[in-house]
Amino acid sequence: MTHFEYRNGEMHAEGVALSRIAEVAETPVYVYSAGALAEAYTRFSSALSTADLNARVCYAMKANSNIAVIRTLADLGAGADVVSGGELERALAAGVSGPDIVFSGVGKTPGEMRQAIAAEIGQFNVESIPELEMLSHVATSMGATVDIAIRVNPDVDANTHHKISTGRQEDKFGIDIARAGDIYARAAELPSIAPVSIAVHIGSQLTDVAPFRAAFARVAELTRELRAAGHNIGKLDLGGGLGIDYGRQTPPPVEDYVAVVAETVGDLECELMFEPGRYLAGPAGILMTQVIYAKEAEARRFAIVDAAMNDLIRPALYDAVHRIETVREPATDGALQDWDVVGPVCETGDTFAKGCQLPALSEGALLVMRDAGAYGAVMSSVYNSRALVAEVLVHDDSFAVVRARQEPATFMGYETLADWQN
Ligand SMILES: *Cc1c(COP(=O)(O)O)cnc(C)c1O
Repeated sequence: MTHFEYRNGEMHAEGVALSRIAEVAETPVYVYSAGALAEAYTRFSSALSTADLNARVCYAMKANSNIAVIRTLADLGAGADVVSGGELERALAAGVSGPDIVFSGVGKTPGEMRQAIAAEIGQFNVESIPELEMLSHVATSMGATVDIAIRVNPDVDANTHHKISTGRQEDKFGIDIARAGDIYARAAELPSIAPVSIAVHIGSQLTDVAPFRAAFARVAELTRELRAAGHNIGKLDLGGGLGIDYGRQTPPPVEDYVAVVAETVGDLECELMFEPGRYLAGPAGILMTQVIYAKEAEARRFAIVDAAMNDLIRPALYDAVHRIETVREPATDGALQDWDVVGPVCETGDTFAKGCQLPALSEGALLVMRDAGAYGAVMSSVYNSRALVAEVLVHDDSFAVVRARQEPATFMGYETLADWQN
């Protein structure tokens, strides 16, 4: 089932016409489908249970940390993977319980560690020796013992965009897998630290299972070595990274990914943890925008839209291409034209798509950019003093604004003149 499709000549999100949402919430606006979130979550978790794996899913909420989105997934049984104290606050506010939270990231501050220990989170994924020592120190000062994984860097190239590749030796993430034996020995000596797990995450938007196979096989080998050295490794955290189809990609079905998991680590009798982000949230969201001007220049047609790179930065940052479609269903016999869809920001990078095949467009036409549910709204900013984009969640025939548009007056309220300027 697709959750964004044409009905009666107009694109709907589940049972809601997008033009209705545009009237209430204005544009640009992100629209998420609760049904699509549930479908992706169920597909992921059923593949794991069908393969008889003892697994749990901790949604990587950096992909989309709207509280209503997290709650939708938490209601289905998801835990959360957080990367900051702010995300931890959001996970708790959305109703995720402490033990269902794992804390990832290379730069946890002592304050964030205290916050997470106080929330009794399930696991810290530690990425360096200084971090390990700091965590031991903080946990000891609070009289707590914390379960940790060391995030290992398996030196595998994920063959993804270089800005979202994380598992090569040159990347800043994790501890070189070749040194892991020493690090676990060190961890086992430190007070208040229980090294119970190994974590790995090699990158995002992977469209091939081979890098996963290589990384998980190395983790399996390490598990055996660490057990032989007397460590009690009962859990593995295999990260996220499974890619989605933005229109030109052919990511493996989740069942193939799970088969690779079963083949590499399935016989270790570990409790497995997964941290999918994009897979769950990406296809569940669109960014809706309106054409401000349809400008026909010498050789090209430009649709200048009211969304810009501050609302969706993926094209500018990662050369990402999102499929763009009109909200009004194109006539089946209508001619298509080449359109460049661009935002109003004064940077050439503020281009969403070039040579996009769309019907004739005029001012006021509504467009959607598909698969924008992950790494979309979370990366939005107020660059150019543009309003912070709103977010809407749809469920069947209902919709709710789950993040209000923040107007310039709101964020200007945090600015003041220096006292000598008055
Ligand atoms: C970003 C990230 C994820 C999620 O990656 P996706 O590609 O969105 O699935 C999971 N784990 C860690 C440690 C991450 O940094």
